Amino acid sequence: MDDAELRRRKDLCALTVDRIDRATPSSRPTPRLRFVAEQKSHGRFDHRLNEVKVAVAGVLDDPALTDGMIEAVVAHEMGHWADPESATSIRRSVIVTFSCAGLGVLGAIGIAVGTNVVNNGTLMLMFLAIVVGFGCSLALSPIMQWKDEYFADRFAAEATSADTVISLMRHFQAQETRSLAIEHPSRARRIRRIEVDALTESAPPTAY
Ligand SMILES: [Zn+2]
Repeated sequence: MDDAELRRRKDLCALTVDRIDRATPSSRPTPRLRFVAEQKSHGRFDHRLNEVKVAVAGVLDDPALTDGMIEAVVAHEMGHWADPESATSIRRSVIVTFSCAGLGVLGAIGIAVGTNVVNNGTLMLMFLAIVVGFGCSLALSPIMQWKDEYFADRFAAEATSADTVISLMRHFQAQETRSLAIEHPSRARRIRRIEVDALTESAPPTAY
């Protein structure tokens, strides 16, 4: 892909951020847009920096992606930006992680105090409790994150079209690696969800 085409695609991303920013009432200011060489998840919204990141490799430099599909990548990240609950759900999952692990440690201390011995056995139990605590927080946090992902997908479908978002997902699905499965629900599930939303024509999540 030549430089002019890459620049045109970057401009398209900027226009999409701008268009969605104007059309969406949000408590956040206009996000910054940054292009990164590579990004495991194609795009990303950083809540702390209020920044949308779009990958060059695999997104902007992929000739198979249409303009609509590139807009859908940006629109999905703008969905995280617009989601009034996303910051709180991140906070919530941090709280869950620490309270699960904390409960595990307390449980282990409880055992040590109850049995009145601190030996390898009780230390092992404390260690196990911490592992179990982190394990349960890992099990719980995807459920909370997925809610955000479905919101962002739906937002992207409203900002572009359900068909565009689905064709983008089918494209990524074809090159899918297993590592992505932890951060997002499976593409198949996301596609089904968008199809159901489009069919039932449920109310859009924002003013779209
Ligand atoms: Zn996302």
